[in-house]
Amino acid sequence: MTAVILGGGVSGLASAYYLVRNSSPFKRIILLEASDRLGGWIQTSRLDNGAIFEHGPRSLRPAGKGGKNTLSLATELGLSNDIIAVTRNHPSTKNRYIYMNKKLNRLAIGGGFKNTFYPQPPFSQSVFSMVIKELRAPVPDNDIEDESIHSFFSRRIGQEVADYLLDPVFRGIFAGDISKLSVKSCLPMDVLKIEKEYKSLMRGVIRRKEKDDDNEVYAMNDIMRATKERWSTWSFQKGMSQLSERLEDVIIRRGNVEIRKSTPCRGLEFDGDKVKVITDTESITADHVVSSIFSQDLSKLLGSPQEELSNLLNQITAVSCIVVNVEYKDYMSNIEGFGHLLPSSEDPCVLGVIYDSSTFKQHDAEKYVSSRYTMMLGGAWYDKLVDRLGDLKESTIQDYACKVLSEQLDIKTEPSNVVVTIQKNCIPQYFVGHSKLVESIDKCVSDNGLPLSLVGSSYKGVSVNDCINNAKLTLKQFDHGIKKVESPDAENIEKNSNV
Ligand SMILES: Cc1cc2nc3c(=O)[nH]c(=O)nc-3n(C[C@H](O)[C@H](O)[C@H](O)COP(=O)(O)OP(=O)(O)OC[C@H]3O[C@@H](n4cnc5c(N)ncnc54)[C@H](O)[C@@H]3O)c2cc1C
Repeated sequence: MTAVILGGGVSGLASAYYLVRNSSPFKRIILLEASDRLGGWIQTSRLDNGAIFEHGPRSLRPAGKGGKNTLSLATELGLSNDIIAVTRNHPSTKNRYIYMNKKLNRLAIGGGFKNTFYPQPPFSQSVFSMVIKELRAPVPDNDIEDESIHSFFSRRIGQEVADYLLDPVFRGIFAGDISKLSVKSCLPMDVLKIEKEYKSLMRGVIRRKEKDDDNEVYAMNDIMRATKERWSTWSFQKGMSQLSERLEDVIIRRGNVEIRKSTPCRGLEFDGDKVKVITDTESITADHVVSSIFSQDLSKLLGSPQEELSNLLNQITAVSCIVVNVEYKDYMSNIEGFGHLLPSSEDPCVLGVIYDSSTFKQHDAEKYVSSRYTMMLGGAWYDKLVDRLGDLKESTIQDYACKVLSEQLDIKTEPSNVVVTIQKNCIPQYFVGHSKLVESIDKCVSDNGLPLSLVGSSYKGVSVNDCINNAKLTLKQFDHGIKKVESPDAENIEKNSNV
């Protein structure tokens, strides 16, 4: 049996890994990647001076099932010694800022009398009064299936919290507009259900007992370290690409996976229980296709018999961002923290700035003291940004980013290194109704009996953790028992208790 995987980003690589690790029936697995490299949005540049710039994801969270699963994967791949972690008492965990009214406002994380009972800028109410308001907020009589993040938090806590907290936070995660993003699909928990059950979000979060329905088998080494050492985020010594590089390496060692770079899929023709996968040079007859590419790209590969599916896939859109990595020689600021985010009312085009050196000093230049920052621009406001810049020349973007950094962090020095990356359609947007749309897509695939599995950031989570975990869960249908990972230092899962 032959399976073809479309796309070699982290979802496609994880799909190949789990198919081979879990003894799937596919004797031949072909991974097609359009570009000449694997990793997709995982893009690490390793500079000659030893510094690391991330143009895509830069850190992973250990929390939740997805977080646990990625830690297990790192252990399985033998990457434990390459993990760099930030603990919960580190300044980059404790200090997160909102840039508003032309200044940095530290978010009151972790309580304290003053932070709890007195209003802290940019908010006009104290955390205590917000909590009281939330506990007393009425619950709508009618069942709400979905609503925007802005609408939900405005009615439960107040518009100020929606405008100045949720708005910047989700600009930082989805680069999107919370008046359109779905509260059901973008939050890690079903807040609408919690509200209905407990009549308050806070009460529900405190009282509800997390169901321990996790029957997965994990390699525990790094999961235990993360718990014991109280990690808040983590990455790898050589940057996030270490994950995709190791996955590639381990998959290739298996022998039954053929990775074909610079080989875009041009079309899919379904015929009974087979599917023809068309590339520029051949037509591969497969028993199953796993698509990890952006839903709109998949939509274009389908012919007229799959018009309904194609139309549904096309409804999921994505936003584009410009990522600017900047390095300065020497310390540039006394402000330590994860970074700052901007509410769209402050400046729609500038999403935020990440203080990379504060979080992962290990990624700084080797021979001199430096400060690295990453500025995120555009997202749902990309067209506005392009209008503002006038052109998309690298020098124009670089000058603009350095001007903004100088205004927001009072940096007057010229940078020693700048890399500008334009990331087109890089973050799918889960608008209100997204979960229904995904249900319709899944139903269309199963009603038509298509030998097709859908993984990737378009459907059930954009984080790297979600992408990996969803690939694993989606392909569970093919599991026949875990095989050893052929990687140096790997901690193997040999037991096959419940897969
Ligand atoms: C700037 C940025 C910052 C982020 N920061 C974080 C972060 O800090 N933490 C976090 O957890 N997540 C973060 N994310 C989200 C996360 O990185 C992505 O959601 C995730 O990497 C998506 O992986 P994927 O494999 O699903 O898709 P992709 O990475 O898009 O991979 C799809 C692959 O398919 C290929 N392809 C496309 N069309 C075809 C075709 N026709 N045939 C063959 N191949 C094709 C593409 O070339 C690509 O390599 C960030 C994303 C971005 C863009």
